[in-house]
This record gives sequence, C-alpha cells and structure tokens, in this order.
Amino acid sequence: MPELPEVETMVRELAAKTQAWRISEVLVHYAPIVASAWESFSSWLVGQDIEAVTRIGKWILFSLTEDRHLLIHLKMTGQFHFDVWPEELGGWPPHCHAAFRLINHAQEPLERTLYYKDTRKFGRLRAFGPGQLNPFLASLNLGPDALIATAQEYRQRLTQAPGSLKAALLDQTVLAGFGNIYADETLIAAHLSPFRKAKTLTIDEATALHTQAQRILNHAIECRGSTVANYQAPEGAGSYQNHHLAYGKAGQPCPFCGRALNKIKVNGRGTVYCPFCQK
Ligand SMILES: [Zn+2]
Repeated sequence: MPELPEVETMVRELAAKTQAWRISEVLVHYAPIVASAWESFSSWLVGQDIEAVTRIGKWILFSLTEDRHLLIHLKMTGQFHFDVWPEELGGWPPHCHAAFRLINHAQEPLERTLYYKDTRKFGRLRAFGPGQLNPFLASLNLGPDALIATAQEYRQRLTQAPGSLKAALLDQTVLAGFGNIYADETLIAAHLSPFRKAKTLTIDEATALHTQAQRILNHAIECRGSTVANYQAPEGAGSYQNHHLAYGKAGQPCPFCGRALNKIKVNGRGTVYCPFCQK
C-alpha cells in the first residue's frame, strides 16, 4: 500500500503534469471505483482547471476552480499514468478504471490523458462540489501529518492512543501517513518495540521516534518511495526499498546487532523487528 513517501512522490509528479490543465472529459470504466454520488461525479470535474495537487495523509487531493475537488485514496494498488485518450489508444489500457482528458489552454491546444490504474480495485475516487470537501475531510478525523508534526505532537498523540506503538502508528487518526513499511522502519531505527504500550512513551523516546521518522520519511521521498509489490509513481519505480532495515527482511541479520530479525503479526499486520534491539 502506498504510504506517505509514495503518495508525496505521486503528488509532486502529478502536480508537474496536471497543474493549470483543464479537465475536458471524464470516463469511468469500473463504476465501483467512484465512492461519491455517481450522477454528479463527472459534472463536478469537467470544465474545471486543476489549481493544485496536494497530499492529506495518504489521500491525494486535486483542487479545481469553482471550489470543486477530486479526492483519491489509492488503498493497495492505486496508481496513475499518462497516455492518450482510450479511442486513440484503440481501447482501455489494462487495469485502468478512470480516464481524465486534460487540455492545456495556456499554450497550444495540447492534450493528455491521466489514467487511474488499480489492479486490486480497492482504491476510491470522490468528486466534491462547492462546500462539500471540508465536511468529508472532518469526518475522516485524521491526525496531524507525520511529516509535519513536531516531536511534542508525536508524544501527545501517541501517549493518548490505546494499544501498542505499532497499532498507534498505523492509526491515521493518531498521525496521518504511516503504513506498515514506515512504521516498522521507524521503530527499528528508534530502537522501540512495536508491542510497547503507546501510552508509556517517554519524552526522550518520543523525540527519538520523531527524529527517526523525519529522517526516514524525507529520505524515502528523496528516493521516490519504496517499490515493493507493484508501486509505481507516474515517473516510474522508487528505490527506498534498497535502504530498508526491517521491512521484508524477516530472518535476515539485524543491522544493529546482527541477530536474526523476527516476524510476527500485530493487529493482523506483519511486523518485522529485532527482539534484542527493540525491547
Ligand atoms: Zn538487533
């Protein structure tokens, strides 16, 4: 599942190719991918210019003219790519479920098509008319962004969360942006046990966790994310998987002590950790 660094990478690459472009046509090939009202989906979007593409936790937000918005959650395998309109392509590209025809009215009449592609089909697209976005965002109750939150906010949010540190990091209402990869990577780098009760985190430990999270998330963004399974940004695969300390490395030596890394399920999520360094 794309996490904060992967979504941030996509947002930057989408912004570079869609900002100031107008949506002239929308086609949806697989209706369940649209989670807002079906009747108004394309009518909220068509004819509007894309003013900005931003990230809200693991959500992607296209802000359009006239207070219209397109909000996307990629879930497991959502991604984007650019090509020509389906008719010119001679049919729908595989696993693509929505197509946005974009025109650039500022220069020559240029045109490109943004495809939403999703092999597992769990991702969801929502279109919002004027005044509709903020109530929806409020209903998500997202915590502060994991990349922007201060050490103090990390401690405040985590020590109020029930359950383990791993569960608290995955909970988007505590901090927004972590998923399984960066939770495991941050915990091993900060030498904190995933099973530790989040509410027992000390100031020093929260500071260490915050420092490592910032370092890891920023480094992962520089690497354009981690390509494990099928993640691709519009400009291609990321390379942070080459820097992973724990994720996907069960049975391999701990980078700090050399003993074998362990894998166990925490709240149903595979968790890789060092039983000696993360006590
Ligand atoms: Zn170790």
